[in-house]
Amino acid sequence: MSYGRNPLSKVYDIFVVGGGINGCGVARDAAGRGYSVGLTEMNDLGSGTSSWSTKLIHGGLRYLEHYKFRLVREALIEREVLLKMAPHIIRPMRFVLPYHKGMRPAWLLRLGLFLYDHLGGRKILPGTKVLDLASDPTGKVLRDEFTRAFEYSDCCVNDARLVVLNAMDARDKGAEIFTRTKLISARKNEDGWTLQLQAAETGKIREVSARLIVNAGGPWVDEILREAAGDNRAANVRLVQGSHIVIRRKFDHPKAYFFQNSDERIFFAIPYEQDYTLIGTTDRDFEGDPASATISESEISYLCDGASQYFKDPVTRDDIVWTFSGVRPLYDDGVSKAQEATRDYVLRADGDKDASVINIFGGKITTYRRLAEALLAKVEDAIGPKGAPWTANSALPGGEFDVGDYDNVLSKTSASYPFLEAGQCERLVRAYGLRCHDFLGGAKSLQDLGEHFGQGLTASEVQYLINEEWAWCSDDVLWRRSKLGICFTQEQTERLDNYMREYIQLQNLAAE
Ligand code: FAD
Repeated sequence: MSYGRNPLSKVYDIFVVGGGINGCGVARDAAGRGYSVGLTEMNDLGSGTSSWSTKLIHGGLRYLEHYKFRLVREALIEREVLLKMAPHIIRPMRFVLPYHKGMRPAWLLRLGLFLYDHLGGRKILPGTKVLDLASDPTGKVLRDEFTRAFEYSDCCVNDARLVVLNAMDARDKGAEIFTRTKLISARKNEDGWTLQLQAAETGKIREVSARLIVNAGGPWVDEILREAAGDNRAANVRLVQGSHIVIRRKFDHPKAYFFQNSDERIFFAIPYEQDYTLIGTTDRDFEGDPASATISESEISYLCDGASQYFKDPVTRDDIVWTFSGVRPLYDDGVSKAQEATRDYVLRADGDKDASVINIFGGKITTYRRLAEALLAKVEDAIGPKGAPWTANSALPGGEFDVGDYDNVLSKTSASYPFLEAGQCERLVRAYGLRCHDFLGGAKSLQDLGEHFGQGLTASEVQYLINEEWAWCSDDVLWRRSKLGICFTQEQTERLDNYMREYIQLQNLAAE
């Protein structure tokens, strides 16, 4: 059935549903090519799977075992492309892979790492080497039976900030971004789609029109097809939960560990923020609302036991300061085990020439930019071409400096604002890169940055997050724009929430 279009509603070339990494990456690429773009996110940007990842920009060493050479090669090439785009929120990291009898044989690991070093045209990241754990500092915290290890390169990313930076750049290039606004219906009209969007806070419904929809709903991709677009049979993704534990810093060097478990699964122990170690992930089929995924008792035991097989000093439940779980929306290719389902993305265009919807199934954070390029090729087929691909040599907001210049940027920032503590300065440069001057600029003392909420978070930073980064409540600031939530007290959180509410009310009054 076709509906008439409301002549007053705005017509976008492309309307993206879902403000995770894939939706925001597509919106940025499309807006930069000259399409008119809208994006709606039902909660906060990055509040879905994209902020619950293991935070690796990686080829995925273990996918070689499943012969996923295309995926691994594309992801390996992307590591350095993304590192150059965002040298503040992405950093190179060395991974130590201890080996011993009973696990994958050394020749297999050596072969895998040889391919890993050579498949992706590596220029910046150093290659693999062998470590003697008896003398190397990384061996100090490991049990004595581990005497040798391989050390290889990958990168680590602040996943939630990667999402927001893509959204900011999309906005700077003309895209309109609606947060806390849910797509509730999509109906065909005579020349495209009429979409109804509902604001979470007020319940108000807004209508917009679009020539094409991009369904970037992550784990909700089928729900969007079923509930908003009326495709009752949609069942394209397999939901697989992965959980992590965060413990106090387990080792004092900057490298990460790649551990193999006796069930042949692998997991990581990664330096996290400044004071913690992140351990994960698990893999198990999931049913229910993806937003409600939480770590189970058996996952906690699995991760503690697995890590204790490697660390001299066992990891216990008492060490855990935080846990988080995410749900992977893997394309359902009918395989039986959760860890064997493909991590590759699948794009599918549905509908007719005048009203199509392009659905995104699966994918990794690492390949979001390539996914956006592949999707834009389908957009061109559907509604005609605009600009050429442009993101490969671009910079994300705040990342307009060379990868090797990070230390320079940090020391210059520290010299410009000598009143910032070293850890606070490093946090700000890692999170905002050159954009930190937007809210630090001109300050001569900590007092100049306004109220201090704790852990170095000041009113100037919070105002910047509200005005520039769509932050709306303490969760957005403490768990996505930063991870300060791990050490904020209840009282500090309430104070921050009150401040944000009052500030936003004042802004709204001023705008009326
Ligand atoms: P999401 O981030 O979930 O975004 C979808 C968004 O759509 C959500 O924010 C949701 O609120 C919104 N939405 C849904 N319905 C509606 C609606 N009706 N209206 C408006 N908005 C709506 N990848 C890597 O590269 N490296 C890793 O280390 C890594 N580790 C991982 C570890 C775990 C445990 C998991 C689960 C995944 C990991 N991944 C990793 C994969 C990666 O996180 C995901 O592939 C990616 O985040 C998916 O992004 P997305 O944008 O498709 O989905």
